[in-house]
Amino acid sequence: MFTLILSGFFNSNKRLARDRVALTATIFIAIASLPVALAQAPVRPGGALPTLGDTSELSVSAERRLGDRIASSIYRDPDYLDDPVLGDYVQSIWQPLMAAARARGELAPELEERFAWEVMQIRDRSINAFALPGGYLGLHLGLIGAVTSRDELASVLAHELTHVTQRHISRLMSKQSARMPWLIAAMLLGALAASKSPDAANAAIVGGQAAALQTQLNFSRDMEREADRVGFAVLADAGFDRQGFASMFDKLQQAARLNDNGAFPYLRSHPLTTERIAEARSRLQLEAPGPALPPSAVVTAERRALLHALMAARARVLADTGVDGLRPMVAEAQRLVLTATAWSPREAGVLYAGALAASRLREPALARSLVARLVTAAASTGDAALTEPVQMLALEIELAAGKTADLPRLENARGRAGLLLQVRSDLAAGRVQEVPGPLQTWVSQHPRDALAWQLLAQAYGRQGQTLRAIRADAESRVAQLDYPGARDRLKAAQDLVRSNRSSDGEASNYIDSSIVDTRAREIDQLLREQALQEKLDR
Ligand SMILES: [Zn+2]
Repeated sequence: MFTLILSGFFNSNKRLARDRVALTATIFIAIASLPVALAQAPVRPGGALPTLGDTSELSVSAERRLGDRIASSIYRDPDYLDDPVLGDYVQSIWQPLMAAARARGELAPELEERFAWEVMQIRDRSINAFALPGGYLGLHLGLIGAVTSRDELASVLAHELTHVTQRHISRLMSKQSARMPWLIAAMLLGALAASKSPDAANAAIVGGQAAALQTQLNFSRDMEREADRVGFAVLADAGFDRQGFASMFDKLQQAARLNDNGAFPYLRSHPLTTERIAEARSRLQLEAPGPALPPSAVVTAERRALLHALMAARARVLADTGVDGLRPMVAEAQRLVLTATAWSPREAGVLYAGALAASRLREPALARSLVARLVTAAASTGDAALTEPVQMLALEIELAAGKTADLPRLENARGRAGLLLQVRSDLAAGRVQEVPGPLQTWVSQHPRDALAWQLLAQAYGRQGQTLRAIRADAESRVAQLDYPGARDRLKAAQDLVRSNRSSDGEASNYIDSSIVDTRAREIDQLLREQALQEKLDR
């Protein structure tokens, strides 16, 4: 009985991926069914339910498999977002934290190799971040939008990273039961769905039930203390301002006081005891005050604050899909009077949010006028770290407006965001010949970049290279762990090769078709292994 309910939930998930209401409803139904499912779980020999409180930890590979299972559901959720600009920003914080954890010996080589280490963006206005099994982490856009510095964002990520490196999840899972990964995955997904901004009519009804289930998956006080203590050290070693930890606590406490309506799930899963806050403060006091910052470091700090303001503004706009939320951001930017050279982080954020919000409201003229003021102000700093995101926003606004001619080229665009945006611009301008080269290089180094594979598929499609287009599309499915979807596409590619052979009598591109055959065999093998593993897991 319980297997039926849960597998139904996972299968229907895929079919309903584009229907947000239906998906949310499905998750809630699955949650609501869980207590029933537990009560009706098959009675094992000996007459007992599966034992909770198993002492053995979940193995690294079992935890990764569980994480993959959860991640593949999140990829299909309409609120999963892969925004390359925010992604690059998060990575600029995440990578130094990883390096510091590695250097401190907190990150075991086996764990580093086997886990995903992927920070997933979730389009949600609530302030939340969470660690999932297998090295996946979730970050709500609401949290990026609410923190006032990159150090605060780093402190949350360092804390969550530590839950993963210290294997807290595997210890929790084994306590629940290593033998019920389907149930654990469903409970985690259900708790996540319920922790989202309450925009579904029945969220309140199921919320309590989900919260009750979630308490079984909460980290212990000792785990929280360890995540604070080790996370603080990792944060400091990575070169972030240690004050970030304390100010993050202050911010959360303030938010909780102002707004006690359950909109801060991060607080629920990480209760802010006065003890935790006091410990964070005393850690700061133990540190000897450093020497005064040299003038160059002060300038860098100011620019970092400006860049953070831009990224937080972007997160606020992308988290808000409604006119009611976007309109006030535009109005605030229109009211702003800015002298071209002096701009504060607050003003920069207001302008950026206003321009992007106007673009999303399909008011390109207004978006252009707002971003133009931002371009002037950013250019006055002469800092590439600031001019680049502003130029990218200007190009995004033109692309959203449907412009195809005279699109500005990104000068020395760096990072993934720059590459992918330039590719989108080239596609819009019909420069399809220029696209595959750089993208091929990129995906060969980053084979799990689904968005890059999708753009590559588009480029090949526009060039009439159908076989390559289908294969790139299949790889984008693989990247998001949708192996059945990938197999369907590869089969379609194989059919195409066969029909071409019979119609024109000559073999189509031999290399391309043999790549397709090889990948089809590999994916079939993966699917067989997955099916076998699922049998073992049940
Ligand atoms: Zn925690």
